[in-house]
Amino acid sequence: AARRPALRFGERALTHAELAAAAGALAGRLGGAVPPGAESTGTESTAPGTAAQAARRVALWATPSLETAVAVVAALTAGVPVVPLNPKSGERELGHILADSAPSLVLAAPGDELPEPVRALERVDVDVRGTGTYAPAEVDDESPALVVYTSGTTGPPKGALILRRAVASTLDALADAWQWTEDDVLVHGLPLFHVHGLVLGVLGPLRRGGSVRHLGRFDTDGVARELGAGATMLFGVPTMYHRIAEALPGDPELAKALAGARLLVSGSAALPVHDHERIATATGRRVIERYGMTETLMNTSVRADGEPRAGTVGVPLPGVDLRLVEEDGTPIPAYDGETVGEIQVRGPNLFTGYLNRPDATAAAFTADGWFRTGDMAVREPDGYVRIVGRKATDLIKSGGYKIGAGEIENALLEHPGVREAAVTGEPDDDLGERIVAWVVPADPADLPGADELADHVARRLAPHKRPRTVRYLDALPRNDMGKIMKRALGDA
Ligand code: ATP
Ligand code: MG
Repeated sequence: AARRPALRFGERALTHAELAAAAGALAGRLGGAVPPGAESTGTESTAPGTAAQAARRVALWATPSLETAVAVVAALTAGVPVVPLNPKSGERELGHILADSAPSLVLAAPGDELPEPVRALERVDVDVRGTGTYAPAEVDDESPALVVYTSGTTGPPKGALILRRAVASTLDALADAWQWTEDDVLVHGLPLFHVHGLVLGVLGPLRRGGSVRHLGRFDTDGVARELGAGATMLFGVPTMYHRIAEALPGDPELAKALAGARLLVSGSAALPVHDHERIATATGRRVIERYGMTETLMNTSVRADGEPRAGTVGVPLPGVDLRLVEEDGTPIPAYDGETVGEIQVRGPNLFTGYLNRPDATAAAFTADGWFRTGDMAVREPDGYVRIVGRKATDLIKSGGYKIGAGEIENALLEHPGVREAAVTGEPDDDLGERIVAWVVPADPADLPGADELADHVARRLAPHKRPRTVRYLDALPRNDMGKIMKRALGDA
């Protein structure tokens, strides 16, 4: 394991020693990067003691590259929060994030071209061959590590201030649950500007001395090649597993490679049951789902030696307190597989607040420190968490029932005429809200009829869960992580 590179991106690689040396050199530079009289922007109320460090934020042009990985390790070393920027963001989103986070400089890979709003910042090129050591005495677990903007699925992205202890505790919990060792090699095909690709995907395997092979762009051939060559883990989003499920029947190499992997993990959004089952059938392996978010890092999963169950995200990770709460704030005591409540979380994995948003920060926590995730779930009798959907967009109140969009989406996806599906609620005089299905047909020349789809759902679930309206689309609006942007469906 010692001879294997810590990181490989295409033809470029770094050993563990080279990574430490390059990050040490950059950390020294960042540690001195305090602009005189740096303004603090309101984080001190939620993160006492870290205001000075939090004020010297640095932006990071987070391409999938060795430079991005080195920059993040350096930020952790220096206790200076890095703000990863999505290189595919438009000027407007970049402008919003830069104005909000007010970084003192931007880190980039040599030669990367930066667009307008980013170019205005002082630029520091990351040298992956740099050598140095840096271990400032004032940096401890309560020092900041990252400011990560949420995906913007339900509103404008908010900058979450994440401390080193949150990163450490989430990675140690996963290392324990998933039994990471220095022999683990991760196949990585995600972007690096969110906690999934960055914290799990880059820092995760490194935590126990393992390594990362980044595909650049995800494709099923790359997965088959790397797993076939001995990689042990794949972490992906549901759109990736969907492509894998579609490719498996015609790709025995892929099936063999997946069957040999130690860990197949999905997260960032719900993995449709249909894809889960197709992969299990073709490979004999079940995908583990984990549930997490920018603000909390990872909350739940299944142990490497546990039993993944389609449609659930497992149980709380070590150190994470999780409860379900009624609308009036009462915790739900029973694991009855039926009572829907909001997931609230407490533990060392939590962020400390949103930048410049004391209102949103205050609203996000209960008086006794539970974080309101906005996600609705039930717990099975044995404690497994089954996410029903987001309170804001996935819970439909129709005819006196509270109906989760997810189970209807899962049912629709089992219809052979349906390639993609999203379900929303729309105001209705009779029902309060009416169930609307947005469907991408498998074959545009042969649309599955609205009645046919409604009956299909009613037969599988219950009559009151049948979609009243079906709308056909060429594609669902998705963000860079493949998440369905339900906000955009209404304007479709
Ligand atoms: P915003 O907060 O800006 O609206 P976002 O919530 O999509 O965007 P993230 O923090 O990237 O931003 O995503 C976290 C959310 O993703 C969770 O709150 C949950 O709704 C969803 N999620 C993550 N993993 C899963 C999973 N395994 N199953 C279902 N939903 C998941
Ligand atoms: Mg969110």
